[in-house]
Amino acid sequence: MTSIGFIGLGHMGGPMAANLVKAGYTVSGYDLSPQSLEAARQNGVALCSTLEEAVARSDIAITMLPAGQHVVSVWKDLLAAIAPGTLLIDCSTIDIESARQAHAMARAKDCPSLDAPVSGGTSGAAAGTLTFMVGGERDVFLRAETLLRAMGKRIIHCGDASAGQAAKICNNMILGISMVAVGEAFVLAEKLGLSHQALFDVASVSSGQCWSLTSYCPVPGPVPASPANHDYQPGFAAALMLKDLKLSQEAALACGAVTPLGHEAERLYQQFNDHGQGQTDFSAIINLLREKSTTAGL
Ligand code: NAD
Repeated sequence: MTSIGFIGLGHMGGPMAANLVKAGYTVSGYDLSPQSLEAARQNGVALCSTLEEAVARSDIAITMLPAGQHVVSVWKDLLAAIAPGTLLIDCSTIDIESARQAHAMARAKDCPSLDAPVSGGTSGAAAGTLTFMVGGERDVFLRAETLLRAMGKRIIHCGDASAGQAAKICNNMILGISMVAVGEAFVLAEKLGLSHQALFDVASVSSGQCWSLTSYCPVPGPVPASPANHDYQPGFAAALMLKDLKLSQEAALACGAVTPLGHEAERLYQQFNDHGQGQTDFSAIINLLREKSTTAGL
């Protein structure tokens, strides 16, 4: 039986580890937070009092941590505790540079490694329906595929080391920009006296169609399940959208890509967060656009 050391049992890692237990894997877990540990214990994860204990006898170590600096630091410690050949998988969303550094550290210890960030949020983590975007060598990907399938529905090999992170930040840059675009269209429609439903009925079957409109509509009514119908409870918190947009802009700057709309989306989400809205669903960015429109006296 494959044994897994799982580090980072928070909103995403907790339910992901629980799904591995359900699929029959032996999971040893470690987290700095006592609450996260207790929730994981109730889901059948064997608790460890140190990081090293969680990974020492594991065939595979998985990390699900807040940011690049946490991943690099944790991988440094766990690489000192594991045997060569142990597979390392980082599922966190982190910057490209840290992802490359983590892969290089693993390579130096003869450990195969993958970056495998996810989309699908906490509900996808609980339901085991995440999308995994995976970077790393193809044979390593094939070795991990069955395990990832216990936590996700779509498992996509994106290319070599850090390609998973690249796919994640490019996708979320599209999402951030498109949500602002859809929000802008609804605010303009309001000012022009066009109903939300009429704009939706036209744009959802016309060239303005996109996921932010048809699956995650930022106004209540047209898509009953979208967070706009539930006072913008996340969903996907605006603070996480800002994090991902910042990662996209950092990467764009480093590689010389021109992303003016990504830059503007980052600026707007920064303002939204500065207004204390970081824990609101990201589709509520429409409220910032409304506020600005009113201020402008349009
Ligand atoms: P979270 O803050 O709930 O969980 C992170 C966990 O890591 C916490 O429990 C924290 O105690 C633990 N941790 C931090 N440093 C540690 C260390 N040195 N050793 C052990 N444990 C440590 O965050 P989350 O929402 O679970 O997100 C995790 C990652 O997934 C992030 O990179 C995030 O961007 C990404 N992500 C989140 C979502 C979402 O909807 N929440 C969706 C997609 C991707």
